[in-house]
Amino acid sequence: MAGAGWAPPHLEDFILTERLGSGTYATVFKAYRKKNAREVVAIKCVSKKTLNKASVENLLTEIEILKTIRHPHIVELKDFQWDKEHIFLIMEFCAGGDLSRFIHARRILPEKVARIFLQQLACALKFLHDKNISHLDLKPQNILLSSLYKPHLKLADFGFAQHMSPWDEKHVLRGSPLYMAPEMVCSRQYDARVDLWSVGVILYEALFGRPPFASKSFAELEDKIRSNQPIELPSRPRLSSECRDLLQRLLKRDPQERISFKEFFSHPFVDMEHMPSAESLDKATSLVTEAVKKDQDGDFSAALSLYSKALEYFVPALRYEVDARRKEAIRAKVSQYISRAEQLKVMVTSNNKTLLQQGRPARDILKEMSKNKPRLYAALEVADAAVAKEEEGGDDGETLDLYQQSLGELLLMLAAEPTGRRRELLHAEIQTLMGRAEYLKEQIKMKESQWEAEDKEGLSDSVRTSCTLQ
Ligand code: ADP
Ligand code: MG
Repeated sequence: MAGAGWAPPHLEDFILTERLGSGTYATVFKAYRKKNAREVVAIKCVSKKTLNKASVENLLTEIEILKTIRHPHIVELKDFQWDKEHIFLIMEFCAGGDLSRFIHARRILPEKVARIFLQQLACALKFLHDKNISHLDLKPQNILLSSLYKPHLKLADFGFAQHMSPWDEKHVLRGSPLYMAPEMVCSRQYDARVDLWSVGVILYEALFGRPPFASKSFAELEDKIRSNQPIELPSRPRLSSECRDLLQRLLKRDPQERISFKEFFSHPFVDMEHMPSAESLDKATSLVTEAVKKDQDGDFSAALSLYSKALEYFVPALRYEVDARRKEAIRAKVSQYISRAEQLKVMVTSNNKTLLQQGRPARDILKEMSKNKPRLYAALEVADAAVAKEEEGGDDGETLDLYQQSLGELLLMLAAEPTGRRRELLHAEIQTLMGRAEYLKEQIKMKESQWEAEDKEGLSDSVRTSCTLQ
């Protein structure tokens, strides 16, 4: 490690104070600009002595890339200097430390908090991906937090990053094997997709408190990396199925099977569309305008669905807004929409009951025609149970599970079903059940949005709570 025990080096315009950390080849100090004592920066000091040729290239790449990049979730490089012995990168100071410390001080992060961080990381990666830049050394130590009060994630340490093509064959492997994609260690044939593996490891560590290949010895670690066993997720803590699905798809050893960047950015757990942004409020407003129109036209079920979609944007809009008065104004509007949506839900639910009853005879006929096909019959029984549960007003999540379970089976059956009356009925039944599942999904999302919009501090509070748990 480069000079972990350094005394702060001397820099003319800055007063260097405490050591913030050190990594693969640098030591980072906190510093103040002499002319403007209130300007706090982080200065990354690299001793030229410790640099071999590859490191000089790494660093120059880092400087070139960082200088051109401005993004809310990427550490800003303000300037750089050098003297006889050192190269200094003057960076924006991140008071919250790095993500590794943040996770380990709390043991694990709640899924909600991990998700917010993941969204911010995805946002930075999307920005880089569009510029054809890979990081190649993603790990919690290279992800910083702007502050502990309202943590904002900032991607750092591009020492290893470079423009993707042409690929430099002479590349030296650097970084921690705990976070490196297996193909990086095993075959040396790798590309941008290694970053997706590392995102999987980081998310895994945030949720379970240790990376998937955590080992007691190097030999054990090597075995785990070289094995071809799929990565298994611990059963606890319990996670949403979307979160598990994403983890499993990121942590595929074979990059060919791994989730693609495009799929990652649009994965429902990442859900970048609903990240707090300057556009959230506009999107919410335009959906709510449509909702009001449908409501006036008496199309209550369409109105309810639109209110629910609008709420999914209002929540991030509230989180995005910093002005307290504007925030309060949005909140007041949102609570009106929520009341209206609740009234609509009562009406729509009673309509639904009628619809569900009307669908029964067709399903009964279909069941009658399926007596000789036990698997189809069983799937229809599950559908029956789902409908019954919805009619009783049972738990939406459990009802949705039943609908999805039966749909999974019925879709398989449909693919193998020859043309004829039974196929027609089956097709229609699947359409009906899909409609039900969609409706329930929307209702579940709406409840979540409602819960978040009415909670005065919203989600930023749950991040903060988890920050003060130390
Ligand atoms: P290396 O290239 O040697 O790995 P990093 O840029 O990753 O160096 O920095 C090493 C450590 O220093 C980080 O893990 C972090 O703890 C701390 N650090 C780096 N940059 C900053 C910053 N801008 N603000 C606060 N701490 C920082
Ligand atoms: Mg580092």
